[in-house]
Amino acid sequence: MAGIKRVYAFGGGRTEGNKDMKFILGGKGANLAEMANMGLPVPPGFTITCQTCMEYYASNPPAFPEGLDEEISEYLAELEQKMGKRLGDPSDPLLVSVRSGAPFSMPGMMDTILNLGLNDESVQGLIEQTNNPRFAWDSYRRFIQMFSKVVLDVDGDLFENAITEMKLARGVSSDAELDADDMKELTARFKEIVAEHVSAEAFPALVGPDGRVAFPQDVQTQLRLAIEAVFRSWMNERAVYYRKMEKIPDDLGTAVNVQAMVFGNKGETSATGVGFTRNPADGTKEYYGDFLTNAQGEDVVAGIRHTQPLSDLPKVLPEAAEELWRVFERLEAEYRDMCDIEFTIEQGKLWMLQTRVGKRTARAALKIAVDMVNEGMITREEAVQRISPAQLDQLLHPQFDPKTQIEPIAKGLNASPGAAVGEAVFSSADAVAAKAQGRKVILVRWETNPDDLPGMDAAEGILTSHGGKTSHAAVVARGMGKPAVCGAEKLAIDAENKLARVKGTDVVIREGDVISIDGTTGVVVLGAVPLVEPEVSGDFDTVLSWADEFRTLGVRANADTPADATLGRKFGAEGIGLCRTEHMFLGERKAIVQSMILADDGSPERAAALDKLLAVQTQDFLEIFATMDGLPVTVRLLDPPLHEFLDDPRALEVEIVRAEAAGADPDELAAKRRLLAQIDSMVEANPMLGLRGCRLGIMFPEIYGMQVRAITRAACQLKKEGKDPRPEIMIPLVSVVTELETLRKETEAVVEEVSREMGVKIAIPVGTMIELPRAAVTADRIGAVADFFSFGTNDLTQTTFGFSRDDIEAKFLPRYLERKILARNPFETIDEGVAKLVEMGCRLGREANEKLKLGVCGEHGGDPESVHTFHRIGLDYVSCSPYRVPLARLAAAQAALAGRVSGSDNR
Ligand code: PEP
Ligand code: MG
Repeated sequence: MAGIKRVYAFGGGRTEGNKDMKFILGGKGANLAEMANMGLPVPPGFTITCQTCMEYYASNPPAFPEGLDEEISEYLAELEQKMGKRLGDPSDPLLVSVRSGAPFSMPGMMDTILNLGLNDESVQGLIEQTNNPRFAWDSYRRFIQMFSKVVLDVDGDLFENAITEMKLARGVSSDAELDADDMKELTARFKEIVAEHVSAEAFPALVGPDGRVAFPQDVQTQLRLAIEAVFRSWMNERAVYYRKMEKIPDDLGTAVNVQAMVFGNKGETSATGVGFTRNPADGTKEYYGDFLTNAQGEDVVAGIRHTQPLSDLPKVLPEAAEELWRVFERLEAEYRDMCDIEFTIEQGKLWMLQTRVGKRTARAALKIAVDMVNEGMITREEAVQRISPAQLDQLLHPQFDPKTQIEPIAKGLNASPGAAVGEAVFSSADAVAAKAQGRKVILVRWETNPDDLPGMDAAEGILTSHGGKTSHAAVVARGMGKPAVCGAEKLAIDAENKLARVKGTDVVIREGDVISIDGTTGVVVLGAVPLVEPEVSGDFDTVLSWADEFRTLGVRANADTPADATLGRKFGAEGIGLCRTEHMFLGERKAIVQSMILADDGSPERAAALDKLLAVQTQDFLEIFATMDGLPVTVRLLDPPLHEFLDDPRALEVEIVRAEAAGADPDELAAKRRLLAQIDSMVEANPMLGLRGCRLGIMFPEIYGMQVRAITRAACQLKKEGKDPRPEIMIPLVSVVTELETLRKETEAVVEEVSREMGVKIAIPVGTMIELPRAAVTADRIGAVADFFSFGTNDLTQTTFGFSRDDIEAKFLPRYLERKILARNPFETIDEGVAKLVEMGCRLGREANEKLKLGVCGEHGGDPESVHTFHRIGLDYVSCSPYRVPLARLAAAQAALAGRVSGSDNR
């Protein structure tokens, strides 16, 4: 494929990319190019494109595409010229870093190699140039360590153990106390480890004349192998897992950035750090971050040494700090958003190693968006576009009940907001296993690393005893929207024995002990603290009220109880789109329902049971309509198979056998046997396709009659009290128009009768759910006799695919997703085929009845991506669970704004 450009230069006076090229250069490469274009101090380098990584994988076995080696050599020559140094030069060597950088940030998932270009000769050059043998040997041993681990697959612990042995032998406790000779000795020892542990078969090119593997001294070989290792890291297990979790496509590839090294470990006027232009935890307008003097980048994130807050930088390195603040201002002005950065100060000189639009908590995202609108930096439309609906979810996380007196056993950093309660577990694998058993856990670790991802994903919350707010645990937890408390130093964690001691006390947390953590305050409590839902106000309200200005799609709540209705209203629902009445038949009412079902048609027993239900249902509707006064409430008549209300026949059978053996009263036994026969007669092979929905209304008209009576009575009574109830009656699971015609007639007769009895004039719209393909494709017929359609996309997905909604996840969905037969769970995000049926149903329905109201009330109504589809189709509203109402309001606004706002990065 001659002619393809695979490498782009940046810095040192010639830059080929810019920030809009992240799908070519990856996020890191595109932003390095942008900073270089802005004239910021960026060490020069070059970026190999993401597409090259995919070309590498396209060969079998994977291999560099033709021409790549030559292009790299050309760009390396340019870099050497820009720096006035050569890679591997024995007197003044150029050293480079080789880093991954995908189009979307994947923190810590892929590999990095620093100090590349050192060998037995160039290390001498570095000593001469820096006059600092300890620094040079330390850099060389770090390079061998990193390269061997990442490129040559050597177990990293072997190197760490060698360092520990050396410290023991010298009687010192920290790496900093090892001198130049120690580092030189370690370098030799590390080379031995390579010879002992690298397989000659896997790396034949590294086999020396003595038949042993030798650490590569040729710098071109080092570079080629390092670039290849970064390509390979795109497919490592944790990167693949992370992409699956974050829904990042596998075919994007990673870019490789080769960049001249600058050193933060050249003494006390050198430093390295990470920073944010605003506080990413709460959004405050302040410079935020951590730094370490005399250290290399990895030391900050690894949490091995204690970092200093960025606000201390002016005291330590005033000139560099001043320049850094100027860079912060310029980056915010350029990106019109909060940025995060990585920097290094080499002997007083500031260098920028990375920037990107920074990740933040939901609370911070809202505050930053509102502040930036007030500062005139962005528009309201952009503010609304910038908040991701999934982020809002974070704010709907529970908090400790403020009424509860708590006695913290430890306090750490409030690293990711929200509170969580669960059993303590001390490894990622234990967290995953416990979750599979349905247990809620808190993952307790010294500090997490990318291998802990599955456990973090499985846990309710994360607790670490080490690391700061930019540690791995903190960054990943914030991204996942999981509560996290980090750096709770009072905890001495003994992962091997699965316990943590609270220092200075005799409290011990053992595996399985319930603990509570509050990621908003950093508090850790032994035992379960009651949790409460948060109040939604301030910036949250402001952004959502802007969203309401832009959206055209209505948002209702699915609610069956007055409490849910209140919650829905609080979150901004404009009505109830689905009130499932079967949920009102549970608890103590189940016995009445059972006697109603089991009584003979027309019998006094059935009439008595129905009377009792009428009284309680009327009360239910009185409360719900009053709560939703002035807003529509769509009440769905009874839907599920009736035997769901009856005892399990197999359990009953066992009971009978036991009672018989115990010599029970024969009359009682006979009654039980009759009951069993009745229940057995109702069992269906496919209950989801059986006697349910409107088929119940046809078979048992008196049940639907009772429900319509209760709805009408409650509404009439409230009207009499001067209120404004707005019920709508919805008939479920219609497949042929005659079902709806029949039931509509019966419904209207009852409404008329009750309103006459009560002397109140009332009109109650009657509509239907469209949840069967036949209904969707004959929606012109059905629309002619309906006032509204509500698409029941749960059943519509089930019947369109022929997938059982109750079994798919346990049976075959995971394999379908893994093998990419389906891209996602169709019960979560509306499938295109099901969406076509919705679209057809809408069009046909409106052709027959132009006043037809159209909504959706399946789970998809609260899924942001599906909301976009429903907006495009032109529905009037979506209805979803109360907690998802704010997300749906935001998603609906974003759908309306899509295409109208440009230039915003809608993460
Ligand atoms: C549906 O099928 O989408 C629906 C809302 O009804 P239910 O989930 O109660 O079957
Ligand atoms: Mg349904």
